[in-house]
Amino acid sequence: MPAGWAYLDTAATAQKPQVVIDAITRGYDTTYATVHRGVYQRSADMTLAYEAARERVARFIGAASPNECVFVRGATEGINLVAQCWAVTQLKAGDRILLSLLEHHSNIVPWQMVAERMGVGIDVIPLTADHAIDLDAMAAMIRPEHKLVALAHVSNVTGAVLDARRAADIAHRNGARLLLDGCQAVARIAVDVQALDCDFYVFSGHKLYGPTGIGVLWGRAELLEAMPPYQGGGAMIDKVSFERTTYAPPPARFEAGTPHIVGVLGLHAAIDYVDGIGLGAIHAHETALVHAAREALRGFNSVTLYGPEESAGIVSFAIEGVHPHDIGTILDEGHVAIRAGHHCAQPLMDALGIPATARASFGVYNSPGDVEAFARGIERVTRIFG
Ligand code: PMP
Repeated sequence: MPAGWAYLDTAATAQKPQVVIDAITRGYDTTYATVHRGVYQRSADMTLAYEAARERVARFIGAASPNECVFVRGATEGINLVAQCWAVTQLKAGDRILLSLLEHHSNIVPWQMVAERMGVGIDVIPLTADHAIDLDAMAAMIRPEHKLVALAHVSNVTGAVLDARRAADIAHRNGARLLLDGCQAVARIAVDVQALDCDFYVFSGHKLYGPTGIGVLWGRAELLEAMPPYQGGGAMIDKVSFERTTYAPPPARFEAGTPHIVGVLGLHAAIDYVDGIGLGAIHAHETALVHAAREALRGFNSVTLYGPEESAGIVSFAIEGVHPHDIGTILDEGHVAIRAGHHCAQPLMDALGIPATARASFGVYNSPGDVEAFARGIERVTRIFG
């Protein structure tokens, strides 16, 4: 965490606690070796550590088995994997996919690629007045042609928390599968995939205080087992010959090549760190900061606030007559780091009728002092732009 900075961009990527940095250093230093192949002790030990991390992930998200947890590069790869291996094999021309207006591009574009290739249609669930996914609208618009619903568990723009269990019930009543994009959720609220009753869940390690380049796709065992591989290569096979190759069962089937071994160790440390603090405590901490930030912003009458009052750790806003990039630049001069832009959610920006928002997002390391620095920065913006 950079000293003297109010880092308010955890929704983009979280700063790393020392325990994660130490786990990565140790992984490359005293214990490093490949996994799943070596006959020597060091590789066997690393394999145990790699698979222990998978068990830790399973426990963290309430998976029935570690074998339902596939290590991927991040949420983006997880969604693309489901699109290319599940949707391409399970959907047919005329089927439809249901998304929402607030999805991140990584939960839109992979489905558009499938739709184009398969003759599949896409429908979009509108938002409520406070920019959450409108589940009443979802219930009204879902039809038997919808075979998949893919929704953000927490919006990266508005911080709105989805009633995921209700979304799953609506989807399942109509025979559709539900994929949840948990990128912003896993570091902010407790997740239990079995209680949520979703079918696929994806998240990235780097937003959970872990390393970049590692993430998780969780899928119900029977769905993963029916899916063909994503990529071919080493480690994903059962037996290879030029006549016929057979594949390993999940999760190995979806982990071709030497994996991001040390990234997995870092993710394990990150989950221990987050669980050590407790997601209940993290959520309460971030909610207090969100309330304070929204309260401070309400003090400026040129400010428009987006998202529900009870958003999870994220506040998006605009200041009349000021481009969000200028807000970001002026805050930066006061060592306050926020994000300004479309947040990879251009359809949402179009619906809001704006090109961009400014976004402050909180993490475990933020304090009320950071919100005060943020408010001083906003005050300066409004003074400069008069
Ligand atoms: N979904 C959401 C809601 C996100 O916030 C992000 C990252 N901004 C992603 C998906 C994509 O994550 P990654 O770039 O780590 O794959």
